[in-house]
Amino acid sequence: TNFDQLGLSGQIVARIAREGYETPTPIQEKAIPLVLEGKDLMGLAQTGTGKTAAFGLPLIDMLLANGQKPQPRKARSLILAPTRELVNQIAENLKIFARKTPLKISIVVGGASINRQQHQLSSGTDILVATPGRLLDLLERKALFLDRVEHLVLDEADQMLDLGFIHDLKKIASLVPDERQTMLFSATMPKSIADLSKRFLTDPARVEV
Ligand code: AMP
Repeated sequence: TNFDQLGLSGQIVARIAREGYETPTPIQEKAIPLVLEGKDLMGLAQTGTGKTAAFGLPLIDMLLANGQKPQPRKARSLILAPTRELVNQIAENLKIFARKTPLKISIVVGGASINRQQHQLSSGTDILVATPGRLLDLLERKALFLDRVEHLVLDEADQMLDLGFIHDLKKIASLVPDERQTMLFSATMPKSIADLSKRFLTDPARVEV
């Protein structure tokens, strides 16, 4: 299978070819067509399997196809990850995939200036990559509203639970519209993750690598 057989636009296929991606990894091959169909997704995959592109490429494609602009203090897609390092890594990948498109990708993490993040969000963002704690701080300040989020991604969900983010995740999910596409990625599948997926996902497709 090649990238041009997964349903992605020619623009995105050309972009990743220029980055040297020749063939999709197994999780990309399985997940990308499902995400493009609008399905909720439960992905069992470790870091290093190419899962960032598995959700990032179709996400960028869908945001470009739908062509709307983000409104001030709103985000169209929200990606949650457990650590600052992972947030930065995801955002770096997405910026490469979205190069030469008008999409705006923003980062919200602890340990950095909240005022600067607030300012960055004031004009709205297409994709927001965040750790849960700092995201809640910004929501409390009314620097950001989640009522226009179309896609929610929970990356390394098992690690987020291990770090005690369950209440934060529930709170954040309650602020995102029910009519959304949700993707949850986890390296392991304990009962706590099964419960979380039951709560957050609707009729999910399950992909395992
Ligand atoms: P991830 O599991 O998303 O952290 O990706 C691991 C690494 O693999 C990253 O450096 C990606 O840029 C790279 N990568 C992801 N998908 C592909 C692919 N299909 N071909 C080549 N490299 C890839």
